[in-house]
Amino acid sequence: MPILNSRLARGSLHSLLVALAVAALAAAPARVAAQEAARTPHPIKVLDTDFIDSTSKACNDFFDYANGAWIRSDTIPAAYSSSGVTRDMSDANELVVRSVLDDAARSRASVPADSTSWKLGTFYASCMDSTAIEAASLAPIRPWLAEIDQITARSQLVPELAALHVRGVNVAFRFGPDVDAHDAAHYLASFGQGGLGLPDRDYYTTEGASADSTRAAYVAHLTHLFVLAGEAEGRAERDAGQVMALETELAKASLTRVAMRDPAATDHPMTMRQLDTLTPRLPWPRYFHAVGLTAPVTKVNVGMPEFLQRVNQLLATVPLAQWRAYLRAHVISEAAPWLSTPFVQENFAFSSRFTGAKQLLPRWKRCLRETDGDLGEALGEAYVARTFPPEAKARARAVIEDVRAAFRVRLQHLSWMSDATRAQALDKLDQMGEKVGYPDHWRDYGRLVVKDGPFVRNVARANAFEWQRTINRPGQPVDKTEWGITVPTVNAYYDPSKNEVVFPAGALVPQTFDPKADDGANYGSLGGSWAGHETTHGFDDEGRHYDAAGNLRDWWTPADSVHFSQQAEKVVQQFDGYVQVDTFHTNGKLTEGENIADFGGLLIGYDALERALQRDGRPGLIEGYTPEQRFFIAYAQSWRVHNRPERLRTRVRVDPHAPEFWRVNGPLSNIPAFAQAFGCKAGDPMVRMRDSVPQIW
Ligand SMILES: [Zn+2]
Repeated sequence: MPILNSRLARGSLHSLLVALAVAALAAAPARVAAQEAARTPHPIKVLDTDFIDSTSKACNDFFDYANGAWIRSDTIPAAYSSSGVTRDMSDANELVVRSVLDDAARSRASVPADSTSWKLGTFYASCMDSTAIEAASLAPIRPWLAEIDQITARSQLVPELAALHVRGVNVAFRFGPDVDAHDAAHYLASFGQGGLGLPDRDYYTTEGASADSTRAAYVAHLTHLFVLAGEAEGRAERDAGQVMALETELAKASLTRVAMRDPAATDHPMTMRQLDTLTPRLPWPRYFHAVGLTAPVTKVNVGMPEFLQRVNQLLATVPLAQWRAYLRAHVISEAAPWLSTPFVQENFAFSSRFTGAKQLLPRWKRCLRETDGDLGEALGEAYVARTFPPEAKARARAVIEDVRAAFRVRLQHLSWMSDATRAQALDKLDQMGEKVGYPDHWRDYGRLVVKDGPFVRNVARANAFEWQRTINRPGQPVDKTEWGITVPTVNAYYDPSKNEVVFPAGALVPQTFDPKADDGANYGSLGGSWAGHETTHGFDDEGRHYDAAGNLRDWWTPADSVHFSQQAEKVVQQFDGYVQVDTFHTNGKLTEGENIADFGGLLIGYDALERALQRDGRPGLIEGYTPEQRFFIAYAQSWRVHNRPERLRTRVRVDPHAPEFWRVNGPLSNIPAFAQAFGCKAGDPMVRMRDSVPQIW
């Protein structure tokens, strides 16, 4: 949901794991719940020797060696597009969150109706109330559709875009406060591209039979949605075609994901006068007023000026009937997961093209995820009290500190880096902030309105709450205490504009980390995979363009920049060479930053383990493995994921992370300490030629 709204113009938080936009489309019925509960969970360990296939050769395919026994016994459950670590951890976390939500829903009668607990319980309960949702059918969104039908003059378009933006509907473009790239202490009003219904602009522009079939399926899907919303078949087909045509124009004017990796490509600060010149037909004061922005706006950042210019033209040239069809399509499509079963099924059937999921998630999981997305900090506190003891936090923090110290030593000794760049790199590392576990202050939900139902309106209210909470930020100091993901989330991120790494409690449990596990296992998983990875993001192909304070500023000497780019190019070439699925290769450029982070994360995680072993003493073999072997196995098992092919195909286009098997075998085959730990020799598939190994960290 809107947690990432504020990051709209300048790319993204650098998360560890893929979060497919289409996964959020997942949708409705309930009978799967019993099946889910019947599944006996295997206790989750940081390193599980049961997963190892000792008949597989570690030096040929280490991912298969570390995970092969598990992969060969695993079946991806029907409601999922993948299985493995994230799902196992999320399943465990979701049981805790569910108990929090059930308690909040049950105790509603005994708490004040304006309390956060009442709002939380009511929000979740209104989602679980399938009887009311089925009975209401389209009714909850009829007023929104009627509003669109009343657009009869072009002057009404912009106020309608504004109303939809506040409700969380993605139409035409994106707008919101973002951290100012040149003054990271303050927010700036920012514009970004948006308004597409397919997961990426490339789906509209790519040629070939497979792309044609996706586009045809999208038009059919829109047609079905229009029919469900009461349109006659013929008109629905026409409208769907017009929506596709308009979105194709937006897509053609959109930047590719690879282009957006360069922070300079989306850095276009301008005055209001310049904005007016760029988009003369867009009445900005009217738009700002309509979205509730009352703070004076003197400058803005337009992430994609050509895109906004194109929107400006389309608002003047595209027939009003076509605009109305487009707006209706987005309203229905955004609401579909929360309406009655025919909408939910249509939404699911279409999204499964991109995920491969065969069945809907049980309702409670869908409701839980939406509640976490919209009211995450209202449930975070209770979640933490039930799962995350202070000892766990302290031990996790110690591993993260060791990793940071190890990176510091590496930076001090890098032979290719000049002293001038080194001094600034060390300063950036020293100033890098760290959030572990949960926020110090929980969000105040006092102004959030929640009603007994219908649920889809509660979702719109939650979006409006989030919008109003942040819309007047332009010019204000940046809130450094804010978290970009919720506490039960199984993920972590680096935020370049705040220069900070963030590890929520939901990620600091087995399999990532266990305070009772040995160092080899913990440093391989939490140290290498998570902490090392996120820390080095501050210095990857994107992160290195930001300074210690989070400002976009080139602090590298030209020679160091050249060295970095040449070595990073080797990473690009390495991953371009890998097959992701079918005949699709991994996109080396799109995944460049993540692959640099995986490689660097492993190196410093390994150094951190060696420091810990020197300091605390070396254990003997554990379950037959040395600490170093356990480090690499735990790393490989932290990527224990089994994907459906549909998901891997979608990820080729939208995901900056390579598939998990390459996130293991790619960087490990570059690391001599790995070869040494498992006795791999030159010529083995897991040992790459020295010349092609990048020298970065
Ligand atoms: Zn990452």
